[in-house]
Amino acid sequence: MSSGARIKPSFSENATKVLERRYLLKDEKGNLIETPEDMLWRVASAIAKAEKAFGDEESEEEWANKFYEMMASLDFLPNSPTLMNAGTPTAQLSACFVLPVGDSMDEIFDALKYTALVHKSGGGTGFNFSSLRPYGDIVKSTKGVASGPVSFMELFDHTTDVVKQGGMRRGANMGILNADHPDVIKFVKAKIEEGKLKNFNISVGTTQKFMKAVLNDEEWELVNPRTGEVVDKVGARNLFDLLCEMAWKTGDPGIIFLDKIEASNLTPNLGSITATNPCGEQPLLPFESCNLGSINLSNMVLPKGEIDWSKLERTVRIAVRFLDDVIEVNQFPIKEIADMTMSTRKIGLGVMGWADVLLKLRIPYDSDEALNLARKVMSFIAKIGHEESARLAETRGPFPAWKGSRWEEKGMLMRNATVTTIAPTGTISLVAEVSSGVEPVFALAYRRKAFEGEANLTYVNEILLDALREERLYSEALIELILERGSLKELDLPDSLKKVFVTAHDISPEWHVRMQAAFQEYTDNAVSKTINMPHEASVDDVKKAYLLAYELGCKGITIFRDRCKEDQVLYIGTGE
Ligand code: ADP
Repeated sequence: MSSGARIKPSFSENATKVLERRYLLKDEKGNLIETPEDMLWRVASAIAKAEKAFGDEESEEEWANKFYEMMASLDFLPNSPTLMNAGTPTAQLSACFVLPVGDSMDEIFDALKYTALVHKSGGGTGFNFSSLRPYGDIVKSTKGVASGPVSFMELFDHTTDVVKQGGMRRGANMGILNADHPDVIKFVKAKIEEGKLKNFNISVGTTQKFMKAVLNDEEWELVNPRTGEVVDKVGARNLFDLLCEMAWKTGDPGIIFLDKIEASNLTPNLGSITATNPCGEQPLLPFESCNLGSINLSNMVLPKGEIDWSKLERTVRIAVRFLDDVIEVNQFPIKEIADMTMSTRKIGLGVMGWADVLLKLRIPYDSDEALNLARKVMSFIAKIGHEESARLAETRGPFPAWKGSRWEEKGMLMRNATVTTIAPTGTISLVAEVSSGVEPVFALAYRRKAFEGEANLTYVNEILLDALREERLYSEALIELILERGSLKELDLPDSLKKVFVTAHDISPEWHVRMQAAFQEYTDNAVSKTINMPHEASVDDVKKAYLLAYELGCKGITIFRDRCKEDQVLYIGTGE
């Protein structure tokens, strides 16, 4: 295939550093053997190979060029495993997996093995451990006592430590235990000991029934999953209070709202959903995987200060096709995952650079105007995305489990059981150099550890620089101050500027939750979001945030109180 006159990608020095460390192919000695441009062409041409099955050679080349341009212009980037692995002998391209864990040694150790295989290939895994019998329960074959879910989770944690992905990053896990499991209190406290379950995000699986019991201060029954017997009772509110206190101390556990997730399960014909991927944005059936991709919304703003809807539409259509093609060429780690993934063909198209859009349009993140624009943008992406998936279904056929799915009930042929997901975009937003996912900017000037033990990337927000120059406020001394504080809050600057240029810590937890909920309204899967809280926030603030997320229809919630842990990935200031 010819490479023609391809546009050159314009990665900054920082972005190139990330690419070199994480994505660009290396030889056995660790020397780089491709440039960023080669990488994008490797990905575009590998994904476009899927087109051959549905068209001709010419369409393969045409789509490879379109995919390349969409990535080189940084309008869209797929999740990390696609960038790392497409066009290589180990072409595992998905970021998100959910594995079942059954209540037998065979099933537990099978899951452990599958976890190692998924992590090796760059994916993250989520599990619901609630089928495991509780600590102290009987084990008939050995006449012994069971160790319970939390100690088995440590096995998964250790395996994650040992299996490093391509020698670079460790894998990531989501561990869920339902609120009615007898070990739930052990689970809620599991991460209080420093370093324990460090490769896990943990979440308590709750239902409306539980949340109502909390609100009404009722008793809550704990049930042994092996026998179905009620083995204990606790105050629902006591359990919820403990959960919030632990989250206040460590950031974990979060909550996931299981019946809210199940209510939007589009393929209940294949079973129910009880778990999500590590960052919570992708609920999946057991053995299902999903590949994600994110549109860079910051590139969808016209110079006159409006959203470029026609460019956004074009990008959504090509991105949906790209992600559907990824499933075609994906090499799955085990057959069960291949079978499940191919039967639902879930894709997760999301966004990054949302906060940058708001800065460019001079709309405060914590405003109704921002929430309304979020709904407008995401409903547009969902509508066009669904349209495109339906169009693909006409030529390529609907996803195999379509019969009996909610899409059949709606009378809509779809190529993909789900289309939209909002990912954290932790690494790809560094490559595109925009704000991550739908998060506010963390700081207006900061240094970031891109890799373990390093603190080497320095950024000053470009949009702020433009605004300061425009308003003739720019000075090096001012930039130094902003770099020290990360925020404009305490600085002597016009209010109009301070209202717009807000950071994650300037925004109240309530507005964080409201933004998550606004995006959730139009997202098939879920929204990755951290509800940032100031160091001074109280346990009560955590409770309020969790209850608000429940009321507003979020699928889950994760909070993080500033400096509650020492080793934060991001930190403000120059002196640390
Ligand atoms: P990226 O920017 O690298 O594409 P995201 O930060 O958007 O990735 O994360 C998307 C998903 O990718 C996560 O929810 C998780 O499923 C997976 N993931 C992220 N980081 C890791 C990791 N270190 N190991 C395994 N999977 C990961």
